[in-house]
Amino acid sequence: MTRRMMWACWVCLAAISANGLAAGEQRSTAEQGLERLRRGNVAYRAGKIDLSRSGGARRAEVAGNQHPFATVLTCSDSRVPPELIFNQGLGDLFVVRTAGAVPDQAVLGSMEYAAEHLQVPLVVVMGHTSCGAVKAAMETPAPAKPDPAGINLERILSAIRPSLEHAARTGDLWTSAVYASVHQNLDDIARCSPVLTELSESGKVIFVGAVYELESGKVDFLEPVAFRSRHNRVVLPGASGR
Ligand SMILES: [Zn+2]
Repeated sequence: MTRRMMWACWVCLAAISANGLAAGEQRSTAEQGLERLRRGNVAYRAGKIDLSRSGGARRAEVAGNQHPFATVLTCSDSRVPPELIFNQGLGDLFVVRTAGAVPDQAVLGSMEYAAEHLQVPLVVVMGHTSCGAVKAAMETPAPAKPDPAGINLERILSAIRPSLEHAARTGDLWTSAVYASVHQNLDDIARCSPVLTELSESGKVIFVGAVYELESGKVDFLEPVAFRSRHNRVVLPGASGR
């Protein structure tokens, strides 16, 4: 079965139409989506949460279809809810979460679905300060012989550990390790997903790393990037993540 056929089956089973838009809405570009996330984070930090897109009217509006403007891969940490952090509502964000925002196969498949079928043009890969998964990777050396009972958690830690080599040795090592893990997660997505790399190479998807600061609520966006191959990530010319 081809990938296109698999997506078609998925959509049939879900009984949704992904091609429609809610009334008055238009598809946004990656740049417009990123600006919307920035503005949403400013509003969130100011305590100006917009609940109008989370109530019954909005629920009815998007019940028949979805057209999220951004995919967000972030940590499962209970303090890092993307819809709140970016002040967005139902149908706005396609969210994928794992401890440490580690992109395993199920994550990559979910992101590919969003990019290829839902045509979401923007992917944000977001870590956060004081990430417990990163801390655990820092403090737990790779076991010589993995304990079968802890094999699933070890898979997460083993995915994070290589990034620690790129963390700065001065200053706040934990926060530096978080930034390093975000860069590695981006690299891992490019390395392990030919679909996303191809969409990025063709300009259909832009990736942005980010780190959420628990204390202030601020999201530090990194420079937008594009994949030029499965092993080559480039900062987009003229794009500023700040
Ligand atoms: Zn975390």
